[in-house]
Amino acid sequence: MKHIIDPPARPWLPVAGSDASFPVHRIYCVGRNYAAHAREMGHDPEREPPFFFSKPPDAVTVGSGVAYPPRTADLHHEVELVVAIGLAGRDIEVTEALNHVFGYAVGVDLTRRDLQAAAKRQGRPWDTAKGFDESAPVSPIVPAWDIGHPAGGAIELSVDGELRQSGDLADMIWSVPEVIAELSSYFALRPGDLVFTGTPEGVAALRPGSRVSCRIEGVAELEFRISGG
Ligand code: MN
Repeated sequence: MKHIIDPPARPWLPVAGSDASFPVHRIYCVGRNYAAHAREMGHDPEREPPFFFSKPPDAVTVGSGVAYPPRTADLHHEVELVVAIGLAGRDIEVTEALNHVFGYAVGVDLTRRDLQAAAKRQGRPWDTAKGFDESAPVSPIVPAWDIGHPAGGAIELSVDGELRQSGDLADMIWSVPEVIAELSSYFALRPGDLVFTGTPEGVAALRPGSRVSCRIEGVAELEFRISGG
């Protein structure tokens, strides 16, 4: 069929150790999946379970630079384990969930914290706070057939060489299988979906020129610099 405009290119991520790409379908995110981060944001993890929001698929960026976004004076980093879905499913059982995972990456859920705080106060959606251009820097995806399914391990983020976030995957409130089971009760999961699984404590502001490096033990590393402003 002829298109009235050029069809937009499908966003994609590289796959470690492969020439093939991982085409991105949707980006789901878990909010407040580490107790200490829920507390630093002013919430009680005992009384408020994690929840979901999303970013547009073309928010992913693979480069070494991310432009400081407009309309914010408080851009925050949130380092997260990213799960790449390889097999479709809905109402997936916890015990079956890892069969739906293609691989893993480390990503940063960049957040315009000032816009998020205003949205929370006013009971408005989070899209402008969470779903802006280049709001999802992600490392290449590492296939599970190479690294297995990490249930623990250090997750860290440094800015200009200073350690800001340091947690452990084992501290997630919902484990990866539980996230997949819960998410698939709301949405039919498709190959190409990415799931950001939440951030440990220590979220803080970035500035133009900030050099961000993050790693998840046994999974992947990612480095980028914030440009412009
Ligand atoms: Mn997050």
